[in-house]
Amino acid sequence: MTDKKTRYIFVTGGVCSSLGKGISVASLGLLLEGHGYKVSIIKMDPYLNIDPGTMSPYQHGEVYVTEDGAETDLDLGYYERFTNSILTRKNSVSTGQIYYTVIQRERRGDYLGRTVQVIPHITNEIKKRIFDVASEGDPDFVLVEIGGTVGDIESIPFLETIRQIRHELGRERVMNIHLTLVPTISVAGELKTKPTQHSVKELMQIGIIPDILLPRVSRPLDDEMRSKIALFCNVNEKNVIAAEDVNGSIYEITYMFRKNKLDVNTLEHFGLPVKEIKLPKWDKFIKTYKNPKHKVRIAVVGKYIQLQDAYRSIYEALMHGSVANEAELEIVKMDSEEIESLAGAAFKSKFSDIDGILVPGGFGNRGIEGKISTIHYARTEKIPFFGICLGMQCAVIEFGRNVCGLENANSTEFDPQSKHPVISLLEEQEIIVEKGGTMRLGAYPCEFVKGAKIKDIYGSDSVMERHRHRFEFTMKYREIYESNGMLVGGIYPKNSLVETIEIKDHPWYIATQYHPEFKSKPIEPHPLFKDFIRASIENKSSRKK
Ligand code: GLN
Repeated sequence: MTDKKTRYIFVTGGVCSSLGKGISVASLGLLLEGHGYKVSIIKMDPYLNIDPGTMSPYQHGEVYVTEDGAETDLDLGYYERFTNSILTRKNSVSTGQIYYTVIQRERRGDYLGRTVQVIPHITNEIKKRIFDVASEGDPDFVLVEIGGTVGDIESIPFLETIRQIRHELGRERVMNIHLTLVPTISVAGELKTKPTQHSVKELMQIGIIPDILLPRVSRPLDDEMRSKIALFCNVNEKNVIAAEDVNGSIYEITYMFRKNKLDVNTLEHFGLPVKEIKLPKWDKFIKTYKNPKHKVRIAVVGKYIQLQDAYRSIYEALMHGSVANEAELEIVKMDSEEIESLAGAAFKSKFSDIDGILVPGGFGNRGIEGKISTIHYARTEKIPFFGICLGMQCAVIEFGRNVCGLENANSTEFDPQSKHPVISLLEEQEIIVEKGGTMRLGAYPCEFVKGAKIKDIYGSDSVMERHRHRFEFTMKYREIYESNGMLVGGIYPKNSLVETIEIKDHPWYIATQYHPEFKSKPIEPHPLFKDFIRASIENKSSRKK
């Protein structure tokens, strides 16, 4: 059942994808929090996959992992970074999940001989999932982002569901926002409203009239344009709110929406009082971001660097760490496969202006040797190095081969016959007996050992961090590594699994089996990213001397 006071804001998109719907939803969430309300946010994806866990980063970008171990759309990353909304697997819904549940129910005979149909069975399941989020944690607002573009066949059950919810709860508790594109035709220098008109028409055919329209524009909307859009799209003129392009960080999008009164008009729609908004920590973050005192160049060496979204949370966390150090960040993206062909002076010159090196996570062996030689370089040249998940596994391989004398040390992911499988599956290590050890997903505790640098950086004896991997450090090698100078800094106590490694005789060399990037926020930068950037700035100034 629905909670009495929760209000629902549904956000759809029109004309085309990539208009920044996820960030717009996250921004509205943040603004509503600034007015003192509690929000929760749901992403509904119209694809048939159960979740994006099995999708290629080329299809989907990063897979974002929640505290409870759900593999979700990267928009959830924006929701968590922008707001205090607690997100779980319930906040990420796909058509695949909905159908899977309904079909399982049908097989169990739960429908008692009735014909199972899209309406009402699929739509009721979608509705149930939305109301479930509302009944947990008692939010004032549930924001629901409908993935895809209005007009797609796939979106229809979701749109039908939100139409029904509006019908059932009324305008006092439901608001529809539609984000579209108003392109500028460059030769004529004119803004064109026709695609927006068509998109709204498409929505109206389903029975949804947007309360607020967010036309994405490359320059501010003038009054004439606004009234034209309002007239053709049946929207109150003041609720045609320009989603202007923003120069600078994506975080400023929130301020653009605030300037254009998205928050005020939302509260007015629901008849709620409009008081002054308070976002002091964000104001401070933006101010520091705009006035950097240093510059830092970080190389990210991975195999999906040509994709803007594949390492999204890592790029964001690097940015949070940089702002926390009052530094302007430049990320130098390097393809680990290309690096494989470099050696000697060519290798050195590639990294000549780099202050710190980060090797992120990944799957499969493409580009692995490039990552390993990068880590070798960072270790021997004493450049700050941060390894994450596969980045840690590569660091272990490199140290095994070049320091511990473990010839051809490898992960069984890349060489199942390796003589020195320093990274392997738990069943290969006989730590767990069940076959097919699946992924370690979501938050697990990590306890730090006495004297570990990482413990000081966190300022804590233990932490909870999120995982997404199958392979682990092979425990029987721990002693050899430690006697050669690589310290196991953090342990998952239950199975004594290695969570972090570090090297003492190095300005900053830390790698984690978990993904700290998922927990970094602009106003709460992750301690490891913050300290890695601090060390990288220090490296830069010591190089200059
Ligand atoms: N492929 C490695 C594993 O499965 C690392 C995964 C990752 O980097 N997320 O353990």
